[in-house]
Amino acid sequence: MRISTPSRTIAFFITLGALLVAAAIALNVSWIVFHWRQVVPLVFGIIVFAAIIAGLVLNTIFLVREIRRNEQQDSFLNAVTHELKTPIASIRLYLETLERRQIEEPQRREFYQIMLQDTDRLLNTIEEVLKAGEVRHTTKTHDFQPVELGALVREAVELGRIRHRLPPEALQITAMPTEEAIVMGNPDELRTAVMNLLDNAVKYSGPEPQIAVGLRLPDLDSARLRISDHGVGIPQGELKRIFRRFHRVHHASGVKGTGLGLFIVRAIVRRHGGDITARSAGEGKGSTFMLRLPRVHRA
Ligand code: ADP
Repeated sequence: MRISTPSRTIAFFITLGALLVAAAIALNVSWIVFHWRQVVPLVFGIIVFAAIIAGLVLNTIFLVREIRRNEQQDSFLNAVTHELKTPIASIRLYLETLERRQIEEPQRREFYQIMLQDTDRLLNTIEEVLKAGEVRHTTKTHDFQPVELGALVREAVELGRIRHRLPPEALQITAMPTEEAIVMGNPDELRTAVMNLLDNAVKYSGPEPQIAVGLRLPDLDSARLRISDHGVGIPQGELKRIFRRFHRVHHASGVKGTGLGLFIVRAIVRRHGGDITARSAGEGKGSTFMLRLPRVHRA
């Protein structure tokens, strides 16, 4: 049996839509040619045909969008299932080994460490999925408080080095303002956003990450955080799409992920009145993420 791929399905609907629109236009033109002397049916016919054509175009756009969304949800489900299954399978294996065999104390400790890491990975995936659902629906700003971005970035970098076992030169702070960078916001969310960007920079950098983090105050009202790496890079056409929910770039498919991280980052940054953009000279040439947040001044 031949299974039609999603892109083939989209091509089919686009062709069908285009053919129907062409047929409707041809009918419309012949109607005008045959009835050009009868003003009332002519005007009526043109309006009805225009409505039919508009309906067809809208219908095609809607169908194509739905197919795309389904595709993305499928790949998201696959990614999440994989992210949940792998650590559970690993924990199970270690538990079975511990149950069946007499294990020396040092090795037993090592097993416990691995199982703890696996449970962390499970928790991270679950938190990411929950957070993605949450950020879509929250617009509240009543929990905002002054947050010093410089301290937050320093902490995040420190945590990133510990989490990924990196030497200081692999994850460096290259610029930090001398004055305070105060942002009105939720510190946990801002930390999540910065950590997601740092985790990605490490994840998509291969075995030897070289990451630079710079915080600057370009003017009185904003703070700009720049995180750049020398990793796999992002193709030009993908620079905007990577912020969409579930969107992952093919070349990075060897790296595990759910396609939710950048979506969460963008939602958080927007809720704080800022914006985020990505740049890359192309595949294999590293990536730079620039985050701008509005800042305030202490009275
Ligand atoms: P995930 O990492 O779980 O796939 P994200 O939403 O964090 O999801 O990122 C979306 C996609 O953007 C990733 O799949 C990856 O292809 C690309 N990407 C994100 N950060 C980087 C980076 N620093 N370098 C290269 N590609 C990146």
